[in-house]
Amino acid sequence: MTKHRDTIIIGAGLSGLVVANKLSRTFPTHSFALVEKDRTTGGVIRSFVDGGFQAEYGPHGFLDNCQESRDLLTQTGLDKECVKAPLSTFVRYVCIGGKLQMIPQSPLKIIKAPLIPWRDKVKVLGDLFKKPLGGEPTVAKWADYRFGKALLPYVDAVFTGTYAGDYNELKIDAVMPGVRALEKQYGSVIRGAIVKARLAKKQATSVKKLEMPAMTSFPGGMQRLTDKLAESLSPGENLFLNTQASGVTKTASGWQVTSSTASFNCRNIVFALPLNQALPFLGMLDSSLPSTHI
Ligand SMILES: Cc1cc2nc3c(=O)[nH]c(=O)nc-3n(C[C@H](O)[C@H](O)[C@H](O)COP(=O)(O)OP(=O)(O)OC[C@H]3O[C@@H](n4cnc5c(N)ncnc54)[C@H](O)[C@@H]3O)c2cc1C
Repeated sequence: MTKHRDTIIIGAGLSGLVVANKLSRTFPTHSFALVEKDRTTGGVIRSFVDGGFQAEYGPHGFLDNCQESRDLLTQTGLDKECVKAPLSTFVRYVCIGGKLQMIPQSPLKIIKAPLIPWRDKVKVLGDLFKKPLGGEPTVAKWADYRFGKALLPYVDAVFTGTYAGDYNELKIDAVMPGVRALEKQYGSVIRGAIVKARLAKKQATSVKKLEMPAMTSFPGGMQRLTDKLAESLSPGENLFLNTQASGVTKTASGWQVTSSTASFNCRNIVFALPLNQALPFLGMLDSSLPSTHI
């Protein structure tokens, strides 16, 4: 059975849901369908309660320092429900050696905190005197070079928690371009952070106090966001769950998307997928693109 839509969005995680939301608000007559292989929407965003604690399988929140995120909250009415933890008061705990350790959120506080022995703290301060590391080092290599080995378990925990990736493979330039820029511009991350903080303080007028971004979530967890975005979708009409897209081909009038349950003819396709899941499709469209994991 072939269905016709103006746009097919492959993947109903946050990216696909936001595209669908934007399309229906901006072009109400434009027809679209979200094709999702799972039985639910939301992708990696999934909240649950365990032993009375609100927990997340994926992201635990997002920063409110991006206009698009703030607009999305207002448009969906979720701005009235969301809960915010300003970064100035935000704390992370990491379980190391069976003990919860608080990870302060600024380089200076990290140095003051009793996380590592004093001799290792001196190594952290070595950052002030080291040249920027050349090339495109991994997070682990870069953090080891700048701050020494003692901080590595904490860096590992923070990056695993944020990117669900291996810090021996993640490149520092890709995941923390701002921090890398501080290193390059000021010759040291610590010095750069201090200069930036001073500048920001100076710029904050007496009327508008210096505002730190806030980590934002919802009383029932992050899934509230994707559930809310999915609320207006109609299964079988513009949402196809349990439907794995398996191929895309060019047709005279646009594209055909084949899937485990139906075929879709469309003028536009949005791959709302993580890169490695999108690559097989891109490889079908352009043989010069890598179609395997990168
Ligand atoms: C553990 C973890 C923690 C994170 N923490 C944070 C955080 O604290 N703050 C933050 O801002 N970001 C965080 N992120 C990143 C953020 O969650 C993601 O960037 C975002 O949710 C990705 O959404 P997405 O829709 O692009 O991808 P996904 O959520 O991966 O959605 C892709 C969807 O496509 C579907 N799909 C895949 N292949 C097909 C196919 N062939 N056919 C049909 N459907 C298909 C999948 O089933 C999935 O539903 C975290 C990520 C992870 C994994």
